[in-house]
Amino acid sequence: MSHTAEIIAVGTELLLGNIANTNAQELSQALSSVGINVYWHTVVGDNPARLAEAVDIARRRADVILTTGGLGPTYDDLTKQTVCAAFGLPLVFHPEILEGIRAYFEKNVHLTMPENNRPQAEFPDGAVIFPNSVGTAPGCAFQCDGVHVVMLPGPPFEMRTMLRDHALPYLRTLSKEVIVSHDIMTFGLGESPMEELLRERMTHMENPSLATYAKPSEVRLRATAKAPTAEAAEDMLRPVVDEVCALLGDVVYGVDVASLEAACSALLRQKGMTLSSAESCTGGQIAQRMTALAGASQVYRGGVVSYWTDMKADVLGVSREILDQYGAVSEQTARAMAQGARRITGADVAVSVTGVAGPDPDERGNGVGLVFIGLDTPEGTFCRRCDFGQRRRDRIQELAANHAFDLLRRYLSGAPLTR
Ligand code: ATP
Ligand code: MG
Repeated sequence: MSHTAEIIAVGTELLLGNIANTNAQELSQALSSVGINVYWHTVVGDNPARLAEAVDIARRRADVILTTGGLGPTYDDLTKQTVCAAFGLPLVFHPEILEGIRAYFEKNVHLTMPENNRPQAEFPDGAVIFPNSVGTAPGCAFQCDGVHVVMLPGPPFEMRTMLRDHALPYLRTLSKEVIVSHDIMTFGLGESPMEELLRERMTHMENPSLATYAKPSEVRLRATAKAPTAEAAEDMLRPVVDEVCALLGDVVYGVDVASLEAACSALLRQKGMTLSSAESCTGGQIAQRMTALAGASQVYRGGVVSYWTDMKADVLGVSREILDQYGAVSEQTARAMAQGARRITGADVAVSVTGVAGPDPDERGNGVGLVFIGLDTPEGTFCRRCDFGQRRRDRIQELAANHAFDLLRRYLSGAPLTR
């Protein structure tokens, strides 16, 4: 039997817009991974009457209810009491849980536990109690009138830890199916040409299914299978992933890789090569994205943000003749920037970016969105010319960095440098 779930996030600050409901997002992802369909997200303030109403509505339309928030010790933390009242269950005090909370308090907060913590050790009659290893409020789960209710704390780190260690194992026992997905990451092919290419495949597929998610110039294709076991789901997914990768060819930069830069970093590591960068209009985005990756120091040497023309000449050694004759935004400058970055850092390869991020054309009349990407390697220097057109400045910068990573990824993997 498949389950339908509703997530109720409790907290007035969510309604006021002070914080985003990230717990609901994480819970939805987790529920989907154990084969439970989430049909509703509800947000309700710290108000017992409205929470009771939300629970009443949820139990009529869902058979799994997850709550987050309102398990703390303060007067506005009323989730357990309200949910229990809605199901007509008494709260039972568990002295050993209170001792656990007291011990946590003394060890981590270095204070004597205040007496108002006692309600945190009360749980619905018959509930499974989920200990909280990173905070004080335990969570719990119970079943009543055919509905499973799981209550988790509000602080995201506590919610996440308890979800992983206790709630997910509990929820897994409810569903006979697991859901497994793989992400096929592509760059350089739009969403509609891709759907065109895959239409035959996609429309007939229900399990496994294929869905596309587009970002600027990137499309993530998610293949998802539902099966009784993870192994069975993997067996169903393998031929689909292989077929799609073969169909799309070198626009695929990886399966289950997080980003273009992560793909580049993995390739550099594989080849034992190092990278450096010279950036103008991206202002260091390549350097930032490379250094955001764990283990970056093994593959990334550093970069120069040569925004000012004199920096291109004085630091990177781009010749004055090139700058005067072709200008800062030119193929020649992009090539010389990459060569300069590689020379001064001694890296094996170097990428460069120079272009017009806007909002106005440059003094030579180069239009907004014109960007040159350079790549200097032991096998020669390459350049890609991009015209992104009139777009927001930050979009142009992101696209330019993406293209730099794509050019690098193509070089490192031996794919044609342009598709
Ligand atoms: P505490 O013991 O800290 O009182 P609690 O279980 O009572 O925990 P809340 O008081 O509702 O939880 O929320 C505590 C904090 O957790 C909030 O101030 C907020 O920062 C964060 N939080 C609560 N709910 C959510 C949510 N749905 N998404 C993201 N963050 C949340
Ligand atoms: Mg609270």
